[in-house]
Amino acid sequence: MTEADRKTVSRIGKQLLKEGLTRATGGNVSTRTADETVAISPSGIPYPEIERQDVPVVTMEGEQVSGSDPPSSETPMHTAIYENRPEVGGIVHSHSPYASTFAVLDEPIEGTHYLIAQAGTEIPVAGYAPPGSEDLGRLAAETLGTDYDACLLRNHGVVAVGETLPAALEVAIVVEYVARIHYQALNIGNPEPMAESDLTELRDIFDEYGRH
Ligand SMILES: [Zn+2]
Repeated sequence: MTEADRKTVSRIGKQLLKEGLTRATGGNVSTRTADETVAISPSGIPYPEIERQDVPVVTMEGEQVSGSDPPSSETPMHTAIYENRPEVGGIVHSHSPYASTFAVLDEPIEGTHYLIAQAGTEIPVAGYAPPGSEDLGRLAAETLGTDYDACLLRNHGVVAVGETLPAALEVAIVVEYVARIHYQALNIGNPEPMAESDLTELRDIFDEYGRH
């Protein structure tokens, strides 16, 4: 089972690059395994070179139990989120440019395009903490809470979650898309956020849709 999880990590890492959500070795992806360990992308290895057998597996305490390469430096953030969200099975962290633009401004991405509801009624911002720190993990987990499937990391990037790793990638793609649309809209006008009730209704629909 873990072998399939490692293969998924290798595959989705390459997808992250292909979708233009990251460059070189930036960002990281992980999946929760059936025995409550985490298969996560290795540190400092370009995505095209990550083979299934290289993918590190760590415990929820961050101890490496298999894989030849060291795990991503953002492992504490991944495990903090898994601990807080039992239903989350996959996490994508990227530095995608439009979403990161809002992250450096400390501005949440407002709900101006309906697709945002795949991730939340808005995309909130977690306060700054150094990359790779336990504090960053805590802040990200707190900001996601139980209501959001994505948040921004101040001065840094984005984290997206899903029931599976491919689902988390979909969320990361949609966050970058709505960030771009919102950015463009702000450049030529004053986009109004949608009504909270409409966003909540859409969120329920996407939740339902995601489960089937
Ligand atoms: Zn990062």
